[in-house]
Amino acid sequence: MIVMVKGRGYVFKKSGEEPSLEVIDFPDPHHDEVLLKTKAVGVCHTDLATIDGEFPPPPKMPTILGHEIAGEVYAVGEEVKDVKVGDRVVLSWLWYTCGKCEFCISGREQLCVNLIETGRHVYGGYAEYVLAKASHVIKIPNGVPWEYAPSATDAIATPFKGLRLANAKEGDLVVVWGVGGLGFNGIQVAKAKGCTVVAVGRSKKKLEKAKEVGADYIVSTLEEDPVKFIKGLGGADIVLALATSPDPTPYEQGFYSLKKGGILVLLGYPPGKLCLPVIEWGLDEKWVIASLAFTRYDITESLRMIAEGKVKPVIETFNFEEFPKALDKLRKGEVLGRPTLIYK
Ligand SMILES: [Zn+2]
Ligand SMILES: [Zn+2]
Repeated sequence: MIVMVKGRGYVFKKSGEEPSLEVIDFPDPHHDEVLLKTKAVGVCHTDLATIDGEFPPPPKMPTILGHEIAGEVYAVGEEVKDVKVGDRVVLSWLWYTCGKCEFCISGREQLCVNLIETGRHVYGGYAEYVLAKASHVIKIPNGVPWEYAPSATDAIATPFKGLRLANAKEGDLVVVWGVGGLGFNGIQVAKAKGCTVVAVGRSKKKLEKAKEVGADYIVSTLEEDPVKFIKGLGGADIVLALATSPDPTPYEQGFYSLKKGGILVLLGYPPGKLCLPVIEWGLDEKWVIASLAFTRYDITESLRMIAEGKVKPVIETFNFEEFPKALDKLRKGEVLGRPTLIYK
């Protein structure tokens, strides 16, 4: 289909340099592709780290970052049948997964060997239009406003998947270690599953927000020993480790907070190494696992949880033109939840 649209996008050319707002030509959707008119995009910490040169640069440069996208279908390719112009959809980091490698067919498409990453291999969402595969956009249920939808593609789906992998169930004591964009949603997902939730963090303001969104207990590491506190509750069944600072202490404390048979789920990936005692690890049969991202299933479930009112994403909205301001506030740790850009 020939549409030939022009629009604005933040073009990222070099690590350590802020993307610049430029007018560009967007490709027409062909075959199984769709072109989205962007409505709202979440600003991810990974993008900030990429821009600041603390995360490996995208394999394809220049590019347009942004992989937490909500948009309206603007045009569709010749072979697209199940998505139509006007549909409200989301697009995540999973721009394309092959559906036939060993990881895809075993339900782990986030590990797909043929993965094409939104924003890193192809242009992403910090632009007025985005090209996508019809197979990898997911319809937004009625009742989910544009500004909430991007959270389902990462900030909810990531903790949701971590809890799914750890088999969280009613009555479990779940510790959300690190309060922020993902933590607030992790608390709400765990509460919806019937778990008791402890939120651990430093910022008083963020811990208060954690309580507001449903945490049963809040622990400030500046004021008390989180391990002692959690052990006092009987120990954790599951710890979601979300901290991103290079200090491995929260991860080690998370391990020591587990009860026998408890599971430490690594969700934030700070640089460095973990040092854990093998005897305690073995005799208490603790599990230490990593959970990378999510699948389209986790995104669908995250959207459902918003639609049913089980998760209310914590966001701070900015206009598309305020992207540099959103980055700066994120850099300074001044955003309470997920910064979300709104497109006119
Ligand atoms: Zn993200
Ligand atoms: Zn695959």
